[in-house]
Amino acid sequence: MPGQPKPPQLNRTKGVIVGDDVRTLFEYARKHKFAIPAINVTSSSTTVAALEAAQNLKAPIILQVSSGGSAFFAGKGVKLGKHEAMVEGSVAAANFIRSIAPSYGVPVVLHSDHCHPEDLPWLDGMLDADIAHRGPDGKGEPLFSSHMIDLSELADEENIKTTRQYLEKSVKAGTWLEMEIGVTGGEEDGKNNEKNTKLYTNPKDIWDVYRQLSEVSKNFSIAAAFGNVHGVYKVGAVKLRPWLLGKHQKYIKAKLEKGADAQVEGAEIPDEQDLHPEPEDPNEDPEKKNPVFFVFHGGSGSAKGEFLTAIGHGVVKVNLDTDMQFAYCDAVRDYMVYNLQRLETPVGTRKDPNGPPNKNFFDPRKWMREAEKSMVKRVEEALKDFNAAGKWETS
Ligand SMILES: [Zn+2]
Repeated sequence: MPGQPKPPQLNRTKGVIVGDDVRTLFEYARKHKFAIPAINVTSSSTTVAALEAAQNLKAPIILQVSSGGSAFFAGKGVKLGKHEAMVEGSVAAANFIRSIAPSYGVPVVLHSDHCHPEDLPWLDGMLDADIAHRGPDGKGEPLFSSHMIDLSELADEENIKTTRQYLEKSVKAGTWLEMEIGVTGGEEDGKNNEKNTKLYTNPKDIWDVYRQLSEVSKNFSIAAAFGNVHGVYKVGAVKLRPWLLGKHQKYIKAKLEKGADAQVEGAEIPDEQDLHPEPEDPNEDPEKKNPVFFVFHGGSGSAKGEFLTAIGHGVVKVNLDTDMQFAYCDAVRDYMVYNLQRLETPVGTRKDPNGPPNKNFFDPRKWMREAEKSMVKRVEEALKDFNAAGKWETS
């Protein structure tokens, strides 16, 4: 595609990337104002659908496994404990993705999604797998590119303290760490956050996170709450304000320039009636303007303009799960309804039991492929919406 920037030099240009490559990719996204969709995968079928879309549109992609998705990868009938199944399943998914991803020709960030306090043994298991994968001298590469820890339901102080400990372990593992502060409404992987009140994060809270984590490593990103909701819900319950991220960036930038102890305006978000976006300077260098790498959670159902506003304020990753689930199911439903007569019996139809065999209709490769094609389209739409399409044109 003409007019696209030249992609950065990575140690690995296709397949799962790790270490400094992850940071270089996020810096590239920040500089050229695009975000990489993070697609939740629960099977080899959803994995290849996401990869196919990235290949078609020449874009980097993030594949992520949730705690429940990991256990599903292991199989619902597997005889393992809850966290053991999550660890085994996510490691199996990682090995599959690592093996197939290079064939799709684009860089892939292999990530684990929300880890809540009660599931920390899962995160520990994955980090241990990363450390083991690096070998006895610790010089090899980790299994995963990146993990997410979500202790936002704890008090902020406890959240930051524990997240910091996990960032120390991530340094040893050689992985990126995404954290969450404030609460994203709605339901994610069976956890309901709807009644919580911390739906907008204050700039001073982001600064606390940034300052404490930066002492350990630069390789982290923050999911802040700006009225976003996990899943697709009734409109109007909370107001989405992606421009609040601009207030965070402005505050952090001022703190970095003037010193941590300096008095800086804008530590707290004003009351409703005084709340308005910052005036924008389109010529300002996005790297200087946006010191924090932000992640947009609960992206399903949001408008394109809202994504672009968030991307302008340093969002480099957008999570999409619910929309993908619907796209996948949408095609299966249509397939089953249109072909119902040929799917009720292995041969013929109920009215004509002597008709031709129906193998061509009930073979999982027929209807699952329809699901994949529908999901490919939805991932492609996201790549275009987030300006990621064409950002990995290498030749
Ligand atoms: Zn979240």
